[in-house]
Amino acid sequence: MSLTVIIAAVLLLALLAASARWTWWRSPKPGLKVLCYHKVGVPPRGSKLGELWVSPGKFRAQVKYLLDNGYTTLLFSDLKKLADSGAALPGKAVLITFDDGYENNYLYAWPVLKELGAKANIFVVFNTIGKVNLWHGTASEPWINMATLEQLREMQDSGVIEYGSHTMNHPRLSRLEAGDAAWEIAESRRQLGAALGRELCAFAYPYGDGAGAPALREKVSEAGYAFDFSFRQGITPWPWDRKSSALDRLYIRGGDNNWDLALQLSRGASRL
Ligand SMILES: [Zn+2]
Repeated sequence: MSLTVIIAAVLLLALLAASARWTWWRSPKPGLKVLCYHKVGVPPRGSKLGELWVSPGKFRAQVKYLLDNGYTTLLFSDLKKLADSGAALPGKAVLITFDDGYENNYLYAWPVLKELGAKANIFVVFNTIGKVNLWHGTASEPWINMATLEQLREMQDSGVIEYGSHTMNHPRLSRLEAGDAAWEIAESRRQLGAALGRELCAFAYPYGDGAGAPALREKVSEAGYAFDFSFRQGITPWPWDRKSSALDRLYIRGGDNNWDLALQLSRGASRL
């Protein structure tokens, strides 16, 4: 076998391996792109949820990637204006979202967003504001600080951050009595809205649980939210048909690089 044939065979194998792992060969998907982050920082000792942590350096590189590539970062209120007016999404629009409302969002993500000129949205668990991640078993994630109300207000006043509800206590909604689930959904909108002096238009299901349940989605709608966000991987067609499904998101893992980010934004997933 000649050297050329061997090199060609090696390259072909490398291409096949890359295609089995990454989605570059899929066709690009149009629609609403919603990045889903949780924690920015270094996982504490004992964390079994390391993939939910994105380092401050990586987060900065990802926000810079978005801006360098012409993306406009939207707030929930921007999305609401687009939905209400029936307007199309701006050419390259993206929502950056964070689940839960950790203090590390305030310490490490907000300064980066402010500095680079991007915007983001945080889904807050009302009863854990200024406390710790009470819903986690400490066997999977040690207790870490949640943002205080003062920190949430400071971020809101900067115009860089808006908020949505992530319930009162972060339960699995489908396991609750219907009345209790409805309370988690509606009471958090009322209380968080009052604490922040804003009407909330967005809701995210803890663990994504309930995002596929029509009865729970109905409660979210009745509570006055314009948008409900799932934890399902994907890009949702826009204009959004609310009846068909909750809004999908693009889950950014701690190990993801900017190539993963680019594929998530264009293909709706980076890996198979
Ligand atoms: Zn959550």
